[in-house]
Amino acid sequence: MSEESDRLLLELRGEIGECTRCKLCATRTTIVFGEGNPAARVMFIGEGPGREEDLQARPFVGRAGQLLTAIIEKGMKLRREDVYIANVVKCRPTVDMAFQRDRPPDDDEKAACGPFLKKQIGIIRPRVIVTLGNPSTQYLLQTKQGITKLRGTWCAYGDIPVMPTYHPAYVLRNGDMKSPLKKDVWEDIKMVMQRLEGGQDTPAHREAPEPSLERLVSLKDDAKAASGPDDDGQGSLF
Ligand code: SF4
Repeated sequence: MSEESDRLLLELRGEIGECTRCKLCATRTTIVFGEGNPAARVMFIGEGPGREEDLQARPFVGRAGQLLTAIIEKGMKLRREDVYIANVVKCRPTVDMAFQRDRPPDDDEKAACGPFLKKQIGIIRPRVIVTLGNPSTQYLLQTKQGITKLRGTWCAYGDIPVMPTYHPAYVLRNGDMKSPLKKDVWEDIKMVMQRLEGGQDTPAHREAPEPSLERLVSLKDDAKAASGPDDDGQGSLF
């Protein structure tokens, strides 16, 4: 299954080619396709590559990436290569095409590139998706609701459970490594771990899902009640 998924992902990368389907082709150094286990049980989805990602052709390798890696490795006790990490758009969006400041992807950019993400999800078929921040959450769930409202609540993309949480870059912008938002992210991640450990899997054989905003039963209170591993005093492990 893993080999077949690997093959299909390579095929998809070939389909993208040296893409010029949206204006972000003018601001990129490289296309950042995504990386990780092609049969990952959990998939993290951000909005788009930043400067470091654009240079290295790898997702989440800047400061925000280091925090995401800590969430995965210190918090979830997984290896980064066990999960799959991707973005809604695969080229770097910058303000005024000036290559200085990053910005969230525009709707037309998400519309042009998003179908590639959906194909990745259809190939990998993760048991849980974690959306990071507004752009990926709103795109995948087809909602205008903001991340502050949605985080910590189980949603669904087709039949795949989705846990929206804050983007690591947003966490860092609000207090850096002492950010109080880390505690919220850790609460959300504990719910993801609980779901993965609890075997509440989605069907093994399914068609590529269509987007929908379907609230599932919130496990937030259960997660709060569950005893977690020791934390760092700020209520998080990373
Ligand atoms: S962001 Fe996506 S659609 Fe736009 S140019 Fe890059 S690969 Fe193509």
